Amino acid sequence: QVRSAPGVSQAQLTPGVKNIILVGAGKGGVGKSTVSINLAVSLAKLGAKVGILDADIYGPSIPILTGITDKPTSSDGKRLDPLSAHGLKVMSIGFLIDPDQALVWRGPMVTGALVQLLRDVNWGELDYLILDLPPGTGDVPLTLAQNIRAAGVVLVSTPQDVALADVIRAKLMFDKVSIPVLGLVENMSSFVCPHCRQETAIFDKGGARTAAEKMGIRFLGEVPIDLAIREGGDRGVPIVAGAPDSPQAQAFVTVARNV
Ligand code: ADP
Repeated sequence: QVRSAPGVSQAQLTPGVKNIILVGAGKGGVGKSTVSINLAVSLAKLGAKVGILDADIYGPSIPILTGITDKPTSSDGKRLDPLSAHGLKVMSIGFLIDPDQALVWRGPMVTGALVQLLRDVNWGELDYLILDLPPGTGDVPLTLAQNIRAAGVVLVSTPQDVALADVIRAKLMFDKVSIPVLGLVENMSSFVCPHCRQETAIFDKGGARTAAEKMGIRFLGEVPIDLAIREGGDRGVPIVAGAPDSPQAQAFVTVARNV
């Protein structure tokens, strides 16, 4: 049984959390979860206390991206303890429900579940809670936006025109609900062939920077399409944790510094 969330404020939901940073995208598959987890690990490496909440109710990927297979338990019998990985406190809707079930949930059930993940989890004291949103401009990010006081949202897009058109719509939605847009990340920016070092702009390049300028928001950095980034994600060891000194990891650290 999930409860709905009329007008709850961040103070009530997550009293020990200083900043909630949303990570959103106009559409799925652009690397929103990959950016979320690597941003979280980067902030932790920069010395902050960080948690990540996988709110992508229709496609929770944080369990795989962190390599966590355990189920959360409760030490006080009231609230769930987050799991931990790579220096982060981690909670995902994917730990608790079968994603196939969530696919048929209506908006209020989804919002209720998200509020529970904020309120009924022992987040403790955190400098940042990174919230990996479901993609798009639908009901879910909108309702969530209205129910928590977020520090802002980081938008993720590929450089491709279709993805950028969607991210512009997402930006307008966050404007409408007065959530500050912290900036735009260009993911899958270009590909450097590991054999010949030639750079290929698979989804184009630089489009997000131009779009950010047009929208009057900050450009936070670009992350290449890269085999090690994909493999790290699939192994549950984000590149910033597994190869922190690599240029690929540094691309995420740059984004974290710019946020
Ligand atoms: P979203 O959360 O936007 O749906 P994901 O983060 O799940 O996207 O990424 C979609 C797929 O693309 C995953 O298989 C992921 O490993 C891969 N991916 C994301 N970013 C990169 C990147 N920079 N380089 C290579 N693969 C990437």
